[in-house]
Amino acid sequence: MSDLTLVWLRRDLRLADNPALAEAAARGPVLPVYIHAPDEEAPWAPRGAQRVWLDESLRVLQASLAEFGMPLVIRQGPSLEALQTLIGETGASAVTWNRLYEPAVIERDRQIKQALRDDRLVVSSHNAALLAEPWEVATKAGDPYRVYTPFWRALSAQRMHLPVAVPDKLVGPTEAPDSLAIEQLGLRPTIGWDAGIRAAWTPGEAGAQIALQDFLDRCVDSYKQDRDWPARPGTSRLSPHLHFGEIGPRQVWQGVHEWLDGSARVGAETFLSEIGWREFAHHLLFHFPDTPSKPLDRRFEAFPWADDDQALKAWQQGQTGIPMVDAGMRELWETGWMHNRVRMVVASFLTKNLRQPWQAGAEWFWDTLVDADLASNTLGWQWTAGCGADAAPFFRIFNPSRQGERFDPEGDYVRQWVPELARLPAKHIHAPWAAPAAVCRDAGVTLGTDYPAPLVDLKESRREALAAFDAIKAQR
Ligand SMILES: Cc1cc2nc3c(=O)[nH]c(=O)nc-3n(C[C@H](O)[C@H](O)[C@H](O)COP(=O)(O)OP(=O)(O)OC[C@H]3O[C@@H](n4cnc5c(N)ncnc54)[C@H](O)[C@@H]3O)c2cc1C
Repeated sequence: MSDLTLVWLRRDLRLADNPALAEAAARGPVLPVYIHAPDEEAPWAPRGAQRVWLDESLRVLQASLAEFGMPLVIRQGPSLEALQTLIGETGASAVTWNRLYEPAVIERDRQIKQALRDDRLVVSSHNAALLAEPWEVATKAGDPYRVYTPFWRALSAQRMHLPVAVPDKLVGPTEAPDSLAIEQLGLRPTIGWDAGIRAAWTPGEAGAQIALQDFLDRCVDSYKQDRDWPARPGTSRLSPHLHFGEIGPRQVWQGVHEWLDGSARVGAETFLSEIGWREFAHHLLFHFPDTPSKPLDRRFEAFPWADDDQALKAWQQGQTGIPMVDAGMRELWETGWMHNRVRMVVASFLTKNLRQPWQAGAEWFWDTLVDADLASNTLGWQWTAGCGADAAPFFRIFNPSRQGERFDPEGDYVRQWVPELARLPAKHIHAPWAAPAAVCRDAGVTLGTDYPAPLVDLKESRREALAAFDAIKAQR
């Protein structure tokens, strides 16, 4: 055996603040390895947009490692077999990685750790993805939190770990083992639907650092006001970078505090509390691992969802006839991302006005979001549907027209994503069905021809949703 350590990279695609890499480099020579094994994450293997991101992020990582004269060895799964083969080829005596928190991955990693230890390897795992481990935050009674505010209060009162630096020196193996080429993983789609995603983003560690710096320089001070306005560049757009571990939350925490330099600023506090929601999402997923498919509030297992594939399809395609909803769904399809306020609006519309199961919405987001993340997606959908931890009360049904009038008063967001409505005056753009016929004519809009008539009446469907909730409300 040699003193080589395999660093098994997964969703920690960065060199800075990478505790597994830092530990391995302190031990001796290292070999960074990426193993493509989507089946092991089933049923939540990366799909569509995430695969496009991953393809690019791996290329960037490979190039960064090459600057240190280091290879990134790429292999196909099963992961245990691939690791054992590499250990046989290189004589490595240790394997290290950073932890992930999806139930299927936790179980796989547990088995791999045991098998490698049985093979007499030195094995370690680290936290690179969260400010605190899900088991490090508990109520006084020792239970997991189900309410965000006390969770965040408890977590942010803990001593924060500082990010670890990029190792000063990285030494590779004397001879690099064979590697697949990234193209061989087949992550890029064969039909080019991904041009919009590629144009909108810069995957990779450097892109993540630029996004953070840009946000701190330009947006953080006004974050509290601007974060709800989808046409403003008011949020960080760090979510896919955080999901793929191109930047870690500890780096974000430190970046914000360095920027604050001892001052207290409400925008920065609000922003960090959103990072707190990401932590809360992981806490919930860890402690309630069946929530990606099952409602935390079990009453919702009996909710009378409507069986209507056509409605689901219209929502997916951004053809519901409700401008804010359609704008969001088209932004999602084009760029792989949707603004948080609009995510809540489209999710409320799907689950309440269309009464489609939240799981169907979560699946579509899983296919189309570049930041699709099992913890945050599950929390977002269950929260909006009213069945999750600290969820919005069911009767809080967003009115998408009023949301548009409030957070997109000039209609800029709708104009960008629903160009067929671009000539409607702001006053009518969020409810074209209520606009006088002459206004629609002047704007070149004939409902049902140029743009769909609304799929449902917002008031009527709201009433029906509340009646459906009444049917399960009393259960315990
Ligand atoms: C129905 C629904 C589904 C969602 N699915 C996902 C998902 O799959 N992946 C995902 O990362 N986020 C998801 N979110 C949360 C949120 O919409 C995104 O994190 C946010 O829009 C990302 O944009 P940003 O990076 O500019 O956020 P910022 O406002 O700049 O926030 C900074 C970071 O905080 C975290 N964050 C912010 N809001 C939330 C939140 N509500 N829950 C958890 N983390 C949050 C994200 O990591 C984000 O990058 C979902 C929300 C809803 C309502």
